[in-house]
Amino acid sequence: MLGQMQDRPLLISALIEHADRWHGGAQVVTQTVEGPVHRYTWSDVHRRSRQVANLMASLGVRPGDRVATLAWNTYRHLELYFGVSGSGGVCHTVNPRLFEEQLVFIINDADDQVVCFDSTFAPLVARLQPQCPGVRHWIAMVHEGAVPESTPFATAYEAGLAHASTVFTWPQFDERTASSLCYTSGTTGNPKGVLYSHRSSVLHSYAFALPDSGNFSARDVILPVVPMFHVNAWGIPYGAPMVGATLVLPGPRLDGASLTQLMLAEGVTVAAGVPTIWTSLLSHIRANNVSLPAFTRTVIGGAACPASMIDAFEQLGVEVLHAWGMTETSPLGTLNSFTRAQGSLSAEEQRALRRKQGRVPFGVDIQVVDTTKKPLPRDGNAFGDLRVRGLWVIERYFGATETALEDGWFATGDVATIDPEGFMLITDRSKDVIKSGGEWISSVELENVALEYPGVGAVAGVGGAHPQWTERPLLVVQPTAETAVNAEGLLAFMKERVARLAVPDDVVFVDALPQTATGKIWKLKLREQWARHYTG
Ligand code: AMP
Repeated sequence: MLGQMQDRPLLISALIEHADRWHGGAQVVTQTVEGPVHRYTWSDVHRRSRQVANLMASLGVRPGDRVATLAWNTYRHLELYFGVSGSGGVCHTVNPRLFEEQLVFIINDADDQVVCFDSTFAPLVARLQPQCPGVRHWIAMVHEGAVPESTPFATAYEAGLAHASTVFTWPQFDERTASSLCYTSGTTGNPKGVLYSHRSSVLHSYAFALPDSGNFSARDVILPVVPMFHVNAWGIPYGAPMVGATLVLPGPRLDGASLTQLMLAEGVTVAAGVPTIWTSLLSHIRANNVSLPAFTRTVIGGAACPASMIDAFEQLGVEVLHAWGMTETSPLGTLNSFTRAQGSLSAEEQRALRRKQGRVPFGVDIQVVDTTKKPLPRDGNAFGDLRVRGLWVIERYFGATETALEDGWFATGDVATIDPEGFMLITDRSKDVIKSGGEWISSVELENVALEYPGVGAVAGVGGAHPQWTERPLLVVQPTAETAVNAEGLLAFMKERVARLAVPDDVVFVDALPQTATGKIWKLKLREQWARHYTG
């Protein structure tokens, strides 16, 4: 017997309709590519999204067609999120920081019909255009008459919108319909597409907004520093209209000084981004003695958040919500929030626990398995391959004929432990684990300890090939500008804090650590670079 409740599909258009009807006056503020701050409301987003839908229809975009973006976090990008997906198209957010060959591969693999780009990327687009013959329309996200000279084949977004009607009725369709597409950064081999659905996106928004997750509400002013081309800015563009929050979009200015200024001016209450972003924000705040009174919490994920960063934010009165996820998990997988029991632990115990990546919300399930795929005990010690399944977790990659699952689970490539209370700790990415004399050394653990040492600004632990031990750990350190640091002192510090076997054999200093297209420390590149450090 079926239940007798209304059967309305979970659609992305419903989010923006809701925000318009019930939070229509709440603001969306953008630090624009052009320079000035732009502000309007959720009602305006809805109106212009309907115009985007009409514009796309006039360009011949049909349901299921891919419309790509090469764009910063701005109001125009937001309108494309709703206008394209809401009308049945697939909003394909392309990461402009990838290598050019990867961009060409991605745009052709996705068979993008339209590419909308910020003027910043015009020189790049001029090079991509001849290599992407399937793209029928290139749209520069600029005012009428401001198409960059290097892309004469493009039309202006605002000219298109000016001619598009504001009248559009969002179609109702199966909630499992594809809504957006995001490629993994593809550190090995070609990038792979993850195709989200309306259903997975809406359910993910509910989960991310829950009190033990991001705890987003209509009282919040949310700043996604995480780019809209990196797993849909962790779903915040969908979550903010769901709860009626004010949304602040930082455009291309992601340095510490610009972010601090924007946060102060707009009264940002919660921000989200990868640790490397917060390193520059924290050093700016410290150097300039800035206080951000409205700022109460920050979601940090995408890479392990060092304990020292959690401490630094806590000293500023900002709660760190340490989260783990992947492009393949929309991305929310786990988030570190305490239950009643953990609230009464000692300060030191709480500090140790905060380092972990946390617990799953309803909708996600995880397990850790050994090499024979047998589940390991949840005792906080046994570590193995982390697997995940859930309502917003990938089933197969875009264009693949075979499932990406094994026994119904997605193998993440991360190595983790889960403790009896359900707190998961990523001990490493399986490829980054340092294998020394049959033992596994966690590079993340080494980095966490090294970051506590004065003068260490950023650090990567990598395995260097070793004739006797297979690999031995090496620390690659980017010092801070303020404090001098030397290898002996750092190694003596490490000796007191990690197992004897895990103490690195050497430390090297570099001016800057390389970063991936998603702003993480590029371990693969460093591993390759330093692989022969001990063998010569
Ligand atoms: P991406 O798909 O680019 O978001 O990368 C996903 C990967 O980032 C995961 O498989 C992890 O290796 C890593 N990652 C994400 N969040 C965390 C975290 N909080 N701690 C450690 N690693 C993380």
